[in-house]
Amino acid sequence: MQGLTMDYQLTLPALLKRAEDLFGKREIVTRLPDKSFHRYTYKDFVRRSKKLAIALGELGLEKGDRVATLAWNQYQHLEAYFGVPSAGLVIHTINPRLKGHEISYILNHADDKVLLIDETMAPLLAGFKDDVNLERILVFSASGDAPEGLQSYEDFIEGADESKFEYPTLDENDAAALCYTSGTTGRPKGALYSHRCLCIHSLLVSMPDAFGISIKDTVLPVVPMFHVNAWGIPFAATMIGCKQVMPGPHMDPESLLDALEREKVNFTAGVPTIWLGILQILDKDPDKYDLSNLHAMGVGGSAAPEAMIRGFEERHGLHIIHAWGMTEMAPVGTAGYLTPDLLEEPEDVQYKYRAKQGIQLPFVEVRARGDEGFVEWDGNAMGELEVRGPTVASSYYESPEGADKFTDDGWFRTGDVVSIDPRGYVEIRDRDKDLVKSGGEWISSVDLENSLMGHEAVAEAAVIAIPHPKWDERPLAVVVLKEGKNATPDELREHLETSFAKWQLPDAFEFVDEIPRTATGKFLKRALREQFEGYELAT
Ligand code: ADP
Repeated sequence: MQGLTMDYQLTLPALLKRAEDLFGKREIVTRLPDKSFHRYTYKDFVRRSKKLAIALGELGLEKGDRVATLAWNQYQHLEAYFGVPSAGLVIHTINPRLKGHEISYILNHADDKVLLIDETMAPLLAGFKDDVNLERILVFSASGDAPEGLQSYEDFIEGADESKFEYPTLDENDAAALCYTSGTTGRPKGALYSHRCLCIHSLLVSMPDAFGISIKDTVLPVVPMFHVNAWGIPFAATMIGCKQVMPGPHMDPESLLDALEREKVNFTAGVPTIWLGILQILDKDPDKYDLSNLHAMGVGGSAAPEAMIRGFEERHGLHIIHAWGMTEMAPVGTAGYLTPDLLEEPEDVQYKYRAKQGIQLPFVEVRARGDEGFVEWDGNAMGELEVRGPTVASSYYESPEGADKFTDDGWFRTGDVVSIDPRGYVEIRDRDKDLVKSGGEWISSVDLENSLMGHEAVAEAAVIAIPHPKWDERPLAVVVLKEGKNATPDELREHLETSFAKWQLPDAFEFVDEIPRTATGKFLKRALREQFEGYELAT
């Protein structure tokens, strides 16, 4: 017998309609390139999103055609987040930190028809424009100006008559947004999200046990809108009717702190590198910024070190929510909140748990596969994490490469090596290719890095495997010291000895000025491995 409930379609236009009906007066604030603030209301946002949908419709594009963006977190980009899918098209966000040939590869692979680009990013065009087949390039600028030879977005939408806009009837399984993986593990591959996926994800991340955002909140996504939809925050915040603050191109710690204070932000989110920078500033001058309104900071993308979680909480009263996810999951999969039984445990235990990646969100299922089948949830046994759920990719967009990431029984292989403890907390121990395999045992590079970053002289640390004649591989720690601080390899080894067995300790420590990063701000271990190729370890 079937249930008697409506087959209502979960689509982004339904969220736009909700914003129109309910949140007209709520505010959206953007820091412009000249550092001034642009302010408008949801009413303006909805009106302009509709104009964009109408103007795109008049171009004669076909349903499902892709419209690319190269843009910071700003209000026009938000209009594209809703206006493009509300025209039955697919918004395809591209990371501007990629090289020209990578951008052209992605634009060509996705067969994008239109590109919306920030005025400040227009110089990037020279690196790929001649290699792609775009029908139109439209420039986002607050002034409405565009560089010579290009059309401005403001001109493009100006003539569109929003009264012609009708909320479309879409299938919730229609494609709404496209993001490519950053290619840390091969060619970039497209994750194509349906409307349903993005709507469910919005509900999941807003829950009190995830990012916990409500209409009373002001949110500032630091994580870029070109990186997995800013973790879905713009969709979720619009669904809820939060005041939204967009940092524009000003992603340096001082500008962010200034915006957090000035706009009385309650929730913000970004990768650990951003927060490490912010923590250093706050530690230097704890009273400089009033962050008393900030109730939580979401951190993910790479592991949030325990020392950082503690540092914010103990020294500044700021609460970090550690989350894990991936492009292929839209992206959030787990969140590191504490269950009631853990709240009764000593503080040390609580911090250990908060540094894990957390518990699966509803409908996201997890399992870990080791060499001999699925591993026990005992907190020790390591295996590759597999996931499934309504926000998880079922295949890559037009790509035979990567087909092996999807199991025959319908799960996605994440490439992350984890242990899962009896309470269900997932802990990322490594990425498959980053594990150090020493004498048949696995050493977690992430565990060593986190512990090193807990040393008071260490700003950043990355651990890589170096080939070893006897043990196969041994760990090398590459360390960036904090300004004005010093530590010797022996001191760092001593520090690690309190939490690691002798055989797990790095064989060597190298001090560098900086660690190469990916376009999304993660340590680029591939480049480090190249840099230290042929490195001789004492045997
Ligand atoms: P890419 O795969 O190109 O690096 P993603 O942004 O999709 O791009 O990154 C997903 C990966 O980032 C995960 O598979 C995991 O390795 C890592 N990651 C994300 N969040 C965390 C976290 N909280 N702790 C540790 N690793 C994380």
